[in-house]
Amino acid sequence: MTKSDIHVCSAWESEHERPVYTLSSTCPDCGAEAINSAPAPFDPADPYGEYRRRARDAGPDTN
Ligand SMILES: [Zn+2]
Repeated sequence: MTKSDIHVCSAWESEHERPVYTLSSTCPDCGAEAINSAPAPFDPADPYGEYRRRARDAGPDTN
């Protein structure tokens, strides 16, 4: 299996507490489109990844 086989819920930031990964083309949890995980939210090459994690960690854990 390669990384490109894994999709991530395109709406996870609003629908879930953390990325929802799936091998399907739709999120098994909320039914949103599952997109290729190449531009992963936690991609270490993503210059904004740490910022987003900091922002989420700093905020209240609410839904
Ligand atoms: Zn989802």
